Amino acid sequence: MNRKGLLPNLFFITLAYFALGIISILFANLALLCMALPFILLAKAKKKLWCQSYCPRASLLNAAGRRKNWRKNPAFITNGRLRRIMIWYFGLNLLFITGSTVQVALGRMEAMPYIRLFIAIELFSLPQLLTVQAPLFLIHLSYRFYGMMASTTLLALVLSRIYRPRIWCAVCPIGTLSDSALRLERRT
Ligand code: SF4
Repeated sequence: MNRKGLLPNLFFITLAYFALGIISILFANLALLCMALPFILLAKAKKKLWCQSYCPRASLLNAAGRRKNWRKNPAFITNGRLRRIMIWYFGLNLLFITGSTVQVALGRMEAMPYIRLFIAIELFSLPQLLTVQAPLFLIHLSYRFYGMMASTTLLALVLSRIYRPRIWCAVCPIGTLSDSALRLERRT
């Protein structure tokens, strides 16, 4: 991965994403854009342009990760186990997010207007500087996206401090899916 090509200071976008959640949790739905952009750029450029130049999370990891004495990649990275876990986590999370949002919209389930980390760890609601009248399912959806982004950012930061800044990129579901899309593209 080309670390030199990453535009500087993009980490502000990641920090702004989490800060915007305090203004209104509805901004958390920008996560959809973060997930779509890498694939839009990949389809246009036929390479991982997002990862190479524009990823705000990679920029944050470069800024916050361990500076020196990088540790060797652990076995759960080199044997691909964590990558497989993360892709399952990502897929299941999107399934739960979609399913629970539909259930809330149909009135069959109570909305969960609070952050949950790693699908299961219940945290708290965010203070809201802007009061927007939004349907409950949208509030629920926003908190699910916020929780998903917070969980993976937290894990990426912990790994970056223990091992090396961008070790997360070896297991990132967006990176893994981009690689698969590129392989598919080259075969056709
Ligand atoms: S692998 Fe993931 S975190 Fe790393 S640059 Fe790509 S999208 Fe960003």
